[in-house]
Amino acid sequence: MTRPRILVVGAGFAGVECVRRLERRLSPGEAELTLVTPFAYQLYLPLLPQVASGVLTPQSIALSLRRSKKYRTRIIPGGAIGVDLASKVCVVRTITDQIVNERYDYLVLAPGSVTRTFDIPGLVDNAFGMKTLAEAAYIRDHVISQLDLADASQDPAERAARLQFVVVGGGYAGTETAACLQRLTHAAVKRYPRLDPSLIKWHLIDIAPKLMPELGDKLGRSAQEILRRRGIEISLGVSIEKAGPTEVTFTDGRVVPTRTLIWTAGVVASPLIATLGAETVRGRLAVNAEMNLPGHDGVFALGDAAAVPDRAKGGDAVCPPTAQHAMRQGKVVADNVIATLRGQALRPYEHKDLGLVVDLGGKDAVSKPLGIELHGLPAQAVARGYHWSALRTGVAKTRVLTNWTLNAIAGDDFVRTGFQARRPAKLKDFEYTDTYLTPEQVREQAEASVPREG
Ligand SMILES: Cc1cc2nc3c(=O)[nH]c(=O)nc-3n(C[C@H](O)[C@H](O)[C@H](O)COP(=O)(O)OP(=O)(O)OC[C@H]3O[C@@H](n4cnc5c(N)ncnc54)[C@H](O)[C@@H]3O)c2cc1C
Repeated sequence: MTRPRILVVGAGFAGVECVRRLERRLSPGEAELTLVTPFAYQLYLPLLPQVASGVLTPQSIALSLRRSKKYRTRIIPGGAIGVDLASKVCVVRTITDQIVNERYDYLVLAPGSVTRTFDIPGLVDNAFGMKTLAEAAYIRDHVISQLDLADASQDPAERAARLQFVVVGGGYAGTETAACLQRLTHAAVKRYPRLDPSLIKWHLIDIAPKLMPELGDKLGRSAQEILRRRGIEISLGVSIEKAGPTEVTFTDGRVVPTRTLIWTAGVVASPLIATLGAETVRGRLAVNAEMNLPGHDGVFALGDAAAVPDRAKGGDAVCPPTAQHAMRQGKVVADNVIATLRGQALRPYEHKDLGLVVDLGGKDAVSKPLGIELHGLPAQAVARGYHWSALRTGVAKTRVLTNWTLNAIAGDDFVRTGFQARRPAKLKDFEYTDTYLTPEQVREQAEASVPREG
């Protein structure tokens, strides 16, 4: 007998949590499980700034999808580039660029988000994001190479430009990125006796009037104070007018000569969502509290890609795009897929936000767990403790703890690996945003499909 096919798209916080629960709760005879993912790991994104700054190695936050023999899900190495809801086909581009039609009976969409960009001249060609492991590793190499090149340069203007760095986005991702990388350059410059440390300048800018408004006024000010003390120049109410390869123009008219623009001004749902032609809420797929796509039993979406009603807040609120929600939604979606399969009632998702932790590197941090405002070492202990306990596997926990300890004792050697030198480094090259089909192309491709034998 053919088993029903459950297809999960995306192996992030939401997708992996869902798949692991399905493996545990369904007997192998009950359904066939398939996961589409471009990478062979689940990425622990909140620790990316620590990879960029060299506190952690890239491997320590890339959690293997094949760690255990109990993981029986078939993994297709590739990305979904379109979904045709009518024929229940998901079109996949494999990592060898083959186009494959994958049929499903139940679909879980968890492809996460991509960096949100705006129509700012030169932005997508000159900015780096902080969303993938490759980007974090690339940025680390890039920042160290600016020190190397500034050190070698005889031209004072070039030296000054290479030692200026701009981060756009005062949310937690941008703030942590600026803070961690500033620590990297501050420590690294001691190995360059010919460089004047006062030339190193970090800018953190945001169009909003406050950094991380979700922290509240007091903690937000405290974070700002820590960063200012470290010499990071914070400009609020300011964005980018245009970006070029050697300079960035701010909306307040300042022109900053720089080779480093890091853009972390928010995220937007994966372009996969638009291929469905279904209703969206600011780009995220509109689902109900059970994370089911209305009118399509058996199709679920969650995490950053979906607008899941936030029942804890009520009204029209939708859950913010955080790992905290994505992981918990993964479990509920798994239960709801099983309930649909077995003809049982679905359960709605509800979770009250646990708060925010912001690691600014070293002993600096601000946290607001369960509404309690912390800064300094207690905040750092909470931040690291929270992330450490949220890592899925024991081996990842050990790697991260070992890296933290080693870094605290021995510091960093600031080695530029050169692995990705001379490779294209645009946002789309890291986030593959130009790979998706239009809804019409998806339909054509789906119609051409020969049903796969079950
Ligand atoms: C720098 C940074 C710091 C953060 N810090 C925090 C924090 O402290 N706390 C917190 O709660 N949240 C934090 N977040 C947000 C959090 O990481 C996201 O909300 C969370 O990852 C969302 O989970 P997800 O499963 O929806 O997406 P992801 O975890 O991004 O997973 C999506 C997966 O789908 C894959 N994928 C993408 N497109 C396709 C496709 N077309 N086909 C197949 N697979 C695809 C991706 O490769 C990825 O593996 C941070 C994010 C960043 C970038």
